[in-house]
Amino acid sequence: MIEARRGALLAWYDRHRRSLPWRDAADPYAVLVSEIMAQQTQISRVVPHFERFVEQFPTVEALAAASLRSVLAAWSGLGYNRRARYLQEAARHIVEHGWPDPGALQTLPGVGPYTAAAVASIAFDEPVAAVDTNARRVLSRWAGEELDGPALQDVAASELPPSRAADWNQAIMDLGASLCRPRPECGRCPVEPWCSDPSVYSPPGSQSAFDGSIRQARGAVLRTLLDSGSAPVSGLSGLGIEPARLQTALESLHADGLIEQSGEAWAVRD
Ligand code: SF4
Repeated sequence: MIEARRGALLAWYDRHRRSLPWRDAADPYAVLVSEIMAQQTQISRVVPHFERFVEQFPTVEALAAASLRSVLAAWSGLGYNRRARYLQEAARHIVEHGWPDPGALQTLPGVGPYTAAAVASIAFDEPVAAVDTNARRVLSRWAGEELDGPALQDVAASELPPSRAADWNQAIMDLGASLCRPRPECGRCPVEPWCSDPSVYSPPGSQSAFDGSIRQARGAVLRTLLDSGSAPVSGLSGLGIEPARLQTALESLHADGLIEQSGEAWAVRD
């Protein structure tokens, strides 16, 4: 059964794969940028940001040599700006020490188990399964039960074909993003004959509301500081953020190493 399902999914992927600018680039840097951008962000939003970002910073060396300010400006609009700093720190580590072994990609800043597995398989052709929220939902439905933790990793590893790990991981990502969404379209699914229970639903981790959040305040403060160069707290009052939330946003941006204070004024770090 596993082999028939593999063959059906890979054949579907060969015909229907999403055209994404980092696919087939055979460039580990492009894959790393795309995967860090895709953390907590929809692919449709990632694509235009990715294209602009790699045009401005076409190589790992260019990103490593850039100012943090220019990297944050290029990241603007993607949110979760800490990722931009991690990505630049990763680039600087790679320039200094070379790429880690594919099995040690998690030593790079901002690279967790999923991102490490995705980069290892897509950029370095390593036979490892990359399991994100979409893959978890797909694999759980194939198994007929909600999978998590080591059981999920075991199933993902057992499903991995002996070759084409990169295509396999991306095929599951594409299936989860297109047909096997929370409300699945099983009638069009290439692996429907081998799927145990389409009603299994693995809910994604809930995201807290954006409006009124610290995340929203952080984004507004960072955009203002990128535009204005620097500003005292009083100069940020026009953002309409209540003082306690503004203070928390400033402190968390500072703790993340994105801004610094000189006298009364806050500015983005260079
Ligand atoms: S048959 Fe339905 S639930 Fe099963 S993998 Fe396909 S789309 Fe998902």
